[in-house]
Amino acid sequence: MQQKKKAGKISVSKASSQKSFCIICGNETNGIEVENDFVINSIRWLKTKVTKNVKNNRLVVCKACYPKYKEQRKRYESRQRLYLAFGIIFAFLSIVVSPRIGTVLISAAVVLFLYLMSLLSYMPKIRIGIKK
Ligand SMILES: [Zn+2]
Repeated sequence: MQQKKKAGKISVSKASSQKSFCIICGNETNGIEVENDFVINSIRWLKTKVTKNVKNNRLVVCKACYPKYKEQRKRYESRQRLYLAFGIIFAFLSIVVSPRIGTVLISAAVVLFLYLMSLLSYMPKIRIGIKK
């Protein structure tokens, strides 16, 4: 009993007890760190709210998964652009056709919906590689 308590305390006080998980294969591994953006922050926030478990694991992409990651990130980016373009065209046309506050609200809802749809294929940025 006493030994168990001690071990627990040690692992808590250690700052380096943070684990890294690959976002593609889900394995605990080292790799390129994922950049925290608002999507990741909100997922984290939701997780801590739901599970009440504040495990600040590091998110990485391991070497083996990097080609797969690049592909998925590219797909996400192009999909997001496509949805955004659709949303803007839709909003523009509907406001031109019927310039009322209701139309503006509906357009905003459609744009938001399209944006959320694009998040279904969400892939976060990683710290190296993609620099524009
Ligand atoms: Zn991996």
